[in-house]
Amino acid sequence: MNFTKRYRVKPGSKVKLKERDPDDSAGFKKKDREEIEALVRKNIQRLDELQYLLYAENKRSLLMVLQAMDAAGKDGTIRHVMTGVNPQGCTVTSFKKPSDEELDHDFLWRIHKAVPNKGDIGIFNRSHYEDVLVVRVHEIVPEEVWAERYEQINRFEKLLADNNVVIAKFFLHIGKDEQLRRFQDRLQDKNKHWKISPYDFAERKYWNEYQKAYEDALSKCSTAHAPWYVIPANKKWFRDLAVSQILVETLESLDMRFPEPKFDISKIKVE
Ligand code: ATP
Ligand code: MG
Repeated sequence: MNFTKRYRVKPGSKVKLKERDPDDSAGFKKKDREEIEALVRKNIQRLDELQYLLYAENKRSLLMVLQAMDAAGKDGTIRHVMTGVNPQGCTVTSFKKPSDEELDHDFLWRIHKAVPNKGDIGIFNRSHYEDVLVVRVHEIVPEEVWAERYEQINRFEKLLADNNVVIAKFFLHIGKDEQLRRFQDRLQDKNKHWKISPYDFAERKYWNEYQKAYEDALSKCSTAHAPWYVIPANKKWFRDLAVSQILVETLESLDMRFPEPKFDISKIKVE
């Protein structure tokens, strides 16, 4: 099954999150657990090979953007899916509330600096999209300002794509009930207390506003050069399968080759 096609937001289409089932698992069932785990393992191994090729080729980079509501599994996805990748060719950047220095610049300044080097995979745990999500929901800047940002983001991502940055953006889609279950789980498990704060419950009150803001970001900013994927994420095992599969499909579509040697290998004397 081609996951890239199945979960990609078609450029120009209007996303309604209510119409996308966060429990969807493309026909896979929990009882097929072993089969699914084997598929994820295979993808993880293939990702390692593809990353090696990306690194050897040293021509382009892969930028993976992860966005989601709290507890939807951004950290878990990174931990599971990227577990086989050589750390030397991979960077993860988590975008928190901007610092004073960052606020003294345009919103893409800190983002641009974190774009992966040629040959590398870069992961954004949150991203420039926060500037049309939390910023919009809490009216941190006026509407005239955030409303312009969709176009600015599209132009920025086009600039990156034109400069050999391959972009894949993932929205991990969970249901409101599932978020509550995960919050409760964090409250009940001592080892997970560090993951939860009153702020998470305060943000949960804005669920509908966030869904609306996500729908706009997904609708306005899914382009041929920087597609959004809406990943059903209530089932963690399916989320990992879908994300790893799309990364593999994306890298395979690049048809990468090991570079030709710069020397005549036959003339090198091994002595
Ligand atoms: P976890 O999911 O493990 O809690 P996290 O990504 O939520 O990790 P936190 O330190 O809890 O990390 O939260 C980062 C916070 O920074 C989020 O609330 C996010 O909305 C906020 N943030 C990120 N970018 C911006 C921005 N441009 N403007 C305002 N707030 C932002
Ligand atoms: Mg948080």
